[in-house]
This record gives sequence, structure tokens and C-alpha cells, in this order.
Amino acid sequence: MSRLVAIVGRPNVGKSTLFNRLTQTRSAIVDNTAGTTRDRQYGMVEWCGQEFSIVDTGGWVVNSEDIFEEEINKQVQIAIEEADVILFVVDASTGVTDLDDQVAAILRRSKKPVILVANKEDIGDARFNIPEFYSLGLGDPVEVSSANGSGTGDLLDKVIEDMPEPKEEEKPEEDVAKFAIVGRPNAGKSSLINAFIGEERHIVTDIAGTTRDSIYHRYNKFGFDFYLVDTAGIRKKQKVNEDIEYYSVIRSIRSIEASDVCILMIDATRGIESQDANIFGLIQKNRKGLVVCVNKWDLVEDKSEKAQRSFENAIRQRFAPFTDFPILFTSAITKQRIFKVLETAIDVFKNRRRIIPTSQLNTYMLEQIAITPPPSNKGKFVKIKYVTMLKDAVIPTFIFFCNLPQWVKEPYRRFLENKIREKWDFHGTPIAIFMRDK
Ligand code: GDP
Ligand code: GDP
Repeated sequence: MSRLVAIVGRPNVGKSTLFNRLTQTRSAIVDNTAGTTRDRQYGMVEWCGQEFSIVDTGGWVVNSEDIFEEEINKQVQIAIEEADVILFVVDASTGVTDLDDQVAAILRRSKKPVILVANKEDIGDARFNIPEFYSLGLGDPVEVSSANGSGTGDLLDKVIEDMPEPKEEEKPEEDVAKFAIVGRPNAGKSSLINAFIGEERHIVTDIAGTTRDSIYHRYNKFGFDFYLVDTAGIRKKQKVNEDIEYYSVIRSIRSIEASDVCILMIDATRGIESQDANIFGLIQKNRKGLVVCVNKWDLVEDKSEKAQRSFENAIRQRFAPFTDFPILFTSAITKQRIFKVLETAIDVFKNRRRIIPTSQLNTYMLEQIAITPPPSNKGKFVKIKYVTMLKDAVIPTFIFFCNLPQWVKEPYRRFLENKIREKWDFHGTPIAIFMRDK
């Protein structure tokens, strides 16, 4: 179940330092997916066997004096709408400021758990300012130093304590595919959902901080059984300025995390922009299946094979090294290839669960490895003896047993992955490859 923690606060209180501190333990282990760059706004945290993701809402804001207050207010509102727990960071070395007061006022009205984090406790007299923070009306401040890490363990304990339990109706059936429809504003997400399921069906409250609707909506359409994740959130037209990049990105996080396969909509009339790439990055980071829809294809004049090819190439180049995913050219308005989108997304879902029988896997892969063995390194030869797939893994996961796992480097791993993808159908899904000795 996806759970999201948001960091808010005025500039320079140490939000990004805290973000780095909280995410650094895990990212080294988990972000081993080739090609994913660690971004400073979004990461995952593991603490006491619990896992959640965290965003630094400040990471998107351009600091310019005149848009300050307004920006921070929006930042806080987004956090209230999207997050399960909010970390409100203040600077213990300066005490309470007017802006802190304002942010606190908004947070007090929300019904979300808020943890007041008094950062920079390592600085000189900071601790003498702590009593001031009670005036914010948000309970006991948790004293930390993001710079040296002190207090952050207690903070994480408290996050886990405050994290709401997932509601019963938020536990979807395992075997039914969960699709998230994501993309920049105006790419056509709501139109696609309408094309799938018809007109608005859910009544959505528009008040920030009210209990959200269940994130999963189950449908049986065109002979397919599936969940659409967070359709209400997509259909709800936002009052805040949707052109600002981080809104669409933050809004995508939860639905991406809760899905198996993401349908990423790209506006054919605009081409690929940084928002598209950022959302793609989130999908990759979460290792979800992917179907790309180049939407509004009805508006494109040159629909030739050649134009289509060059669009496809541009997308794959931009999203490399992961390139083995389907790209469809759709129109949510004329409903062109709408059925194909669902069909393809179901295929990707199946590919994610594909288990190759061990004997087949060994026959083929050991043969390929014999033809192209791992390069020797300082006179050492890696011998791969056996390969198997992990059962119950989230994505297809291959374990290669060999004598010197640490000597197998990225290019050879890439080679193995390519061989696997050539032979079997893992179209649209990331796969994982591990080398192990006995
Ligand atoms: P943000 O604008 O809220 O993201 O703040 P930053 O994380 O960029 O931090 C602002 C400044 O405060 C930087 O110079 C940090 O090095 C410093 N800083 C952040 N956390 C701490 C801390 O716990 N102790 C001290 N002494 N400095 C800190
Ligand atoms: P969202 O913000 O991603 O949910 O985008 P919408 O579904 O609200 O679509 C934004 C605008 O693009 C609306 O005016 C739609 O009518 C229009 N639109 C969406 N999909 C298509 C399409 O495939 N073709 C055309 N011509 N217009 C589209």
C-alpha cells in the first residue's frame, strides 16, 4: 500500500537536508535500477521494516521573493491533499517567524497528522527557542539536526506511529490488474477515463483534507476486469495552477505507487516535455509496468508510418535505457485504439507475472552465456552455473548463480537482460537481475 509523507516549511529551514538524510539509507540499496537518477524531491524510506515514500515539496519551488507566500501556501495545500503524514519543518536556531505562523494555521485546519520538526538543534542556543514552537498549536516539536542526523530516528518512529492504517476497502484483489492513468495536465487523462468507463460516476468532495475516496475503482469493461487507480483525483479539476510542474508530479505519486501498470499519456501536439520525463522517472523508480499513449493523434496532420516511427524513437531515446515498452497512438475523443490500450495494459500486467520454467531458462541462457561469457577480469573467470526466477517477486527477477558475483558488471548484466527480453515477452515491465554465489 502506498503511503506518502510530505515535507513542508519555509525556505532555508533545512527541508532538503532532512529529505536527503531520511532517504539516504535506502536509496543506495533500492535505486540500483540502471539509469534512474536520484532526484531531490522524491524518494523512499525504510524504517523498522516499514516502507513509505517521501516528497520535499520545497524541491520544486523557485525561490523568488514575491511569489513566496503564495507558493508556500499552495505547497502546503498540495501536501495536505496528497500526503498521509506531513512533516512541518521549522528552524530551531531562529525561532518562530510570521511565515511559520501562517503555515501552521493552514495545517491546524487540516485533518492530517502533522509532525512539527524543529531542525538545526545542533546550532548554539537553538534549544532555548524550543518552547516558542508550542505557540504554533501543533503539539510537541521533535528536535532534530538534519545536518548530523541526531533525533531523526525518533522522528521516523513518530512518522510510523502517526501513519494511518490502510482502510479495508483500500486492499484490492491481488490478481486483478491495477492501472494508473498518468501524465501532464491536459494530456487527456480524464477524457481517456471517460472513454473507458463513461461519464462521471463518483461524487467527489472538493474540500482539502477531507477523507479521500477509496483509491481503487474496479471495472469490468470490454471483457476486461481491472482497477483504475485514483480516478477521482484525476477527474477533480484543481483550483490551483496546474501548469506548475510539481503539482502534476506530486499528484501522480500515489496512483503510480498503488498501480501495477501505468498508462502514461503524452500530448501529441506538444511532444515530450520535462513533466513527461519526470513522471516517467517516477514510474521507473517504482518499477511499474508501462504503456505510453501518444494521445490527441487525431489532431496530428502527418500520421504517416514514418512520422509515427520518429515519434516512437524520440520517446524511447528520451526514456532510455528502459526501451522495451509499448507505444500506442490514441485519441480519447474519437476513441481510436481505446480498446487496444486496455488490452495492452493487461498484456503488460501478465508479462510482469510471467515465470519461465527453470529448465527452459537454463537451456537457453546457459547456451547464450557459453557463446558470450562474462569478460575475464585480472585473470579471473566468472562461471555462471545456474539461473532461476524468484517466486513471488514484484517484478520478474532472475538470479544467476556463479562463483564470483561481484565481478559481473553492469554491461554484462545489460547483455543478460537483452537476451532475456529477446527470447521471452517482458514487454512493458522492468526486470531485475541479480548475481549470487551459492
Ligand atoms: P530548505 O530550503 O528548507 O530545503 O533548506 P536546506 O536543506 O537547503 O538548508 C538550508 C541551509 O541550512 C543549508 O545551508 C543547510 O546546510 C543548513 N542546514 C540544514 N539543516 C541543518 C541542521 O540540522 N543544522 C545546521 N547547522 N544547518 C542545517
Ligand atoms: P487531463 O487534464 O489530462 O485530464 O486532460 P483532459 O482529459 O481534461 O483533456 C484536456 C483537453 O484536451 C480537453 O479539452 C479534451 O477535450 C482535449 N482532449 C483530450 N484528449 C483528446 C484527444 O485525443 N483528441 C483531441 N482532439 N482532444 C483531446
